[in-house]
Formats: sequence, C-alpha cells, structure tokens
Amino acid sequence: MQRITLASRPVGEPTDENFNLETLDVPDIGEGEVLVRNHYMSLDPYMRGRMDDAKSYAAPVPIGGTMEAGTVGEVIASNHPGFAPGDFAFGMLGWATHGVGKGAEMRKLDPNLAPITTALGVLGMPGFTGWFGLMEFGRPKEGETLVVAAATGPVGSMVGQVAKNLGLRVVGIAGGAEKCKMAVETYGFDACIDHYAFETASDLRKALKAECPKGIDIYFENVGGKVLDAVLPMMNPFGRIPLCGMIAWYNAGALGAEASAEALTGPRMWRSILVNFLSVNGFIISNHFDKYPDFLRAVGPMMAQGKIAFVEDIADGLENAPEAFRGLLKGRNKGKQLVKLI
Ligand code: NDP
Repeated sequence: MQRITLASRPVGEPTDENFNLETLDVPDIGEGEVLVRNHYMSLDPYMRGRMDDAKSYAAPVPIGGTMEAGTVGEVIASNHPGFAPGDFAFGMLGWATHGVGKGAEMRKLDPNLAPITTALGVLGMPGFTGWFGLMEFGRPKEGETLVVAAATGPVGSMVGQVAKNLGLRVVGIAGGAEKCKMAVETYGFDACIDHYAFETASDLRKALKAECPKGIDIYFENVGGKVLDAVLPMMNPFGRIPLCGMIAWYNAGALGAEASAEALTGPRMWRSILVNFLSVNGFIISNHFDKYPDFLRAVGPMMAQGKIAFVEDIADGLENAPEAFRGLLKGRNKGKQLVKLI
C-alpha cells in the first residue's frame, strides 16, 4: 500500500517537500477493525490547518503521520459485525490507498442509492456543512437576499441551491467566468460575480450592489479577504453571517503569539456588525453530526427530484494529491475535489 505523510510543516503554500509518499505493507486488523481498499479520497481546505502546529479545534497531523482525509472504498477484511468483504464504506482513513479503521467509526454505503463519491461531497461533510450552517445560523426566509463565495464548491453550491429552493435571491461569488457560468447554469444561482474581475473590495461592492438591490440579508462566509470587505457594509439590519471558513487566509499561518500580520487581519468594519445588529456565528461541523440524519432526510429527496446538482473534480492517483491540494487552496478545482486511488 501507499500513503502520504506530513514530512515538514509548510510556511505559506505547501510544497512537495512538505509531503512524503511511502510504500509499506498492508496492515493487519485487530478486534472491531475493518480493512478498506480506498477508491477515492477527499481533499478539503481544513487540511491546510492540520499541517500547522497551532492551537485549533483539532490536533495537528504529527510529523511523519498520515495526512488526514475522508475516504470511500471497498471492505477487504472485517472484524466488525457491521461490515463484510465487498461492502462499500466511508471512513477517515487518510491520504492512503488502504486503511484500517474502527468499524464503529465507519459508515456503510449503498452504491445503488448514490455514487460512493457523493459521501465525500454533496451528501457528505461539505454538503452537510452548507445545509446546516444555512438552516441553523442563516435562518433563511423567502424573499431575502443571500450571498455566498466559493460558490461552485461543495459547501457554497449546497448553500446556494437550498436557499434558492426556499425562495431567496441567491448571488454567488466565484473565481473566473467559467465558474460563474457553472453557478448560474448548473446550480441555478440568480447571478454570480467573478472576484478576479475586481482589484479592490470597493469595486467588487459596486458589482454586488447591482445584483443585490435590496442589500444582503445572509452572507454565508467561506473566504474572508476582499470578499468580506466588500460584503460587510452591505448587510441589512438583523442580517446573519454563518461563519464557516476563510480560505483567503489559510496560507497566512495560524493565530496566536507568533501570528503574521496577514493572519491577524481583523474585522476592520466591526462597526457594521454593531450598527446593523448582525448575528455572526462561527461553527465547526464536527460538533453537529447529530443533525446529519436530518440533513439526509431533507436533501436526499431534493436530490432525487433533481433540485440539487453536484460537480466533482477528480485528480488521478495518490501521488498527484499534493498538487491537487495546492490547486484547491488557489481555486483551480471545479466542484468537489477528489482523488481517485484505484
Ligand atoms: P471549495 O471546493 O469551494 O474550494 C475552495 C474554494 O475557495 C476555491 O475553489 C476558490 O473558489 C475559493 N478561494 C480560494 N482562495 C480564495 C480567495 N483568496 N478569495 C476568494 N475565494 C477563494 O471548498 P469547500 O466547499 O470544501 O469549502 C468552502 C469553505 O468552507 C472553506 O473555507 C472551508 O474551510 C469551509 N468549511 C468549513 C467547515 C466547518 O466546519 N466550519 C466544514 C467544511 C468546509 P473560487 O475559485 O470560486 O474563488
């Protein structure tokens, strides 16, 4: 089997030297464990945080440890009554062709219900994040206006499509004309603005004003940076900001005493939050998995009715994962970024 470990901690953008591709024997399984031949692994922005040795909501990957990832694959051997060889399963088995997991922490998949890759994207953690953050903290109401950036990714596209189904005006922000076309034509957004087309936050804000004539009621925050600066002064009174991510700052390093000036870019328009009585709710989805069945009950039927589209971007081979990961952080992915392992 092969796996990719963390060789060293990146400063800024991860380089090839930060990763190590290793070949080793397939491990034996213990009591209650399951061995899986991984078919696909997920690449997600949170993995950049795990590469830093900093206080966060989750422990960092240790040097020499396997990079963390959600995986889907076929069970080869099982010491757990819930799994038999030939079953398909989701697990957190890492950047690796094979993995051993505790059966109690894995989920059996039915490939006849949905392609197994969807357990990593639209029906998995990212799709759940978009739905949960919107419903719980966005509190959407018909007729309101919602803005979401990283609009064509698995989180943003779920947010936009669920909001659209609830009768909101949905405006996306994405990188480039092709992604904007995808947001409107594939995901049914009302409009989408290319953030690369505007040098400054104030120019981006002018474009947003044209698409959001009644202001913004919900800003689903995925990116921070220039987009946040453009949006914040446009929020309507009692607006809501589910604070999900801030990818524009992930390569800037961690917070804390050693933080770089870029990482410490504060909410310079703090006053917008005060004078407009905004609700800003940070959340980490791993704290809310008790609601995952509710998500499947809500979104499963919408998918079956063709109301939720999804797009996947599949890199080929474990050895290409580091490059695909760098691409994800820069927006080169078109849809949910996966790596095919078999
Ligand atoms: P995506 O597949 O959408 O990939 C990230 C996208 O971010 C890129 O494709 C790019 O899109 C955009 N991006 C990158 N840099 C910038 C920048 N400087 N300014 C604006 N946009 C940028 O990712 P996901 O859908 O998986 O995740 C979206 C967000 O949700 C991330 O911030 C992630 O960390 C967060 N998240 C949070 C969770 C939680 O529990 N709180 C759980 C899961 C995800 P484009 O080219 O369109 O700009």
